[in-house]
Amino acid sequence: MNLFAIVASCLIQGADPLIVRLVDVEGGGGTLVITPARESILIDCGNPGARDAGRIAKAIKEEGLTRLDHLVITHWHLDHYGGAEPLAAQVPIGQFWDRGIPASLDEDKGNFPTLIGAYKRASKGASRTLKPGDTIPLKQAGGAAPLSMTCVCASGDVIKAREGLGPNGKAGETRPMPDDPTDNAKSLGFVISLGKWRYMNLGDLTWNMESRLVFPVNRLGEVDVYHSTHHGLPISNNPAVIRSVRPTVAVFNNGARKGGSPEVLATLRRIDANKGIFQVHRNETANSAENTEPDKIANQNAECQAYGIRLEVKADGVSYSVKLTGAGKTWDYQTRVDKEP
Ligand SMILES: [Zn+2]
Repeated sequence: MNLFAIVASCLIQGADPLIVRLVDVEGGGGTLVITPARESILIDCGNPGARDAGRIAKAIKEEGLTRLDHLVITHWHLDHYGGAEPLAAQVPIGQFWDRGIPASLDEDKGNFPTLIGAYKRASKGASRTLKPGDTIPLKQAGGAAPLSMTCVCASGDVIKAREGLGPNGKAGETRPMPDDPTDNAKSLGFVISLGKWRYMNLGDLTWNMESRLVFPVNRLGEVDVYHSTHHGLPISNNPAVIRSVRPTVAVFNNGARKGGSPEVLATLRRIDANKGIFQVHRNETANSAENTEPDKIANQNAECQAYGIRLEVKADGVSYSVKLTGAGKTWDYQTRVDKEP
């Protein structure tokens, strides 16, 4: 090794890892991302009330942070934005991002006016709207691989395909479902990359919109880690997307009786690149063979212990590990360098 290589390797070893942490919000959204520059981004903030905000604040503290730099809300369902005000009361929050605030929400006329009022108070009316193709401005850490967080879908629109992309041969056949009139179909979705390592999180995006991300061209490319869409419910997780993004690892932020569906696990198990599936909860409505292996489930029992899933990606993006926050075991993976970008 020459001197330059030694210095470069020391710099990489010295840089902090990228952390992606699925906080157990029992079938809601709550994903904490901490960059190698130690900036923090929370994608969704769980349900209204003290429980989820408390769990998220605890996770932030456990990671050695005292504030959130960015809160991103994927869509206006209460399991994703309901925790904004109680969380803001516990942790200072920098920039709020969302898909734009609608005047009303047909599917939740009861809660929306109250909860959106709470969100506006928490964000001081200064949230910023994301469109497909936008990126969250993040600091690059010295010695770490290039980092980006790109919005790939928003408000029913999808990111432009890369120029020169041919038809997607990997998606296979998929029948459309009836169009989804709810806010799920308008969900924000993201790809985060660190060097060659790539992770996707499409919020609660549903079937026909997912399809538009991979037909006729694959606008997503391939990923290392697939954050199962919509908690792993079968009205999302269109197999055409899963076949196109070809993940090595899949993580589910499911509840004991919400998501983590056998159909979705079966699709993932058929992917040649698949090496590990992790669930926040055992799906109580499915048998043990339909769930992932017991040691990859954070909360085994109906009595919830609020354990989550924690990914740690080396600052150079070439390898990563997964562990459950309540257990000692760690699974190590190599970032696939042969992925389609
Ligand atoms: Zn949801």
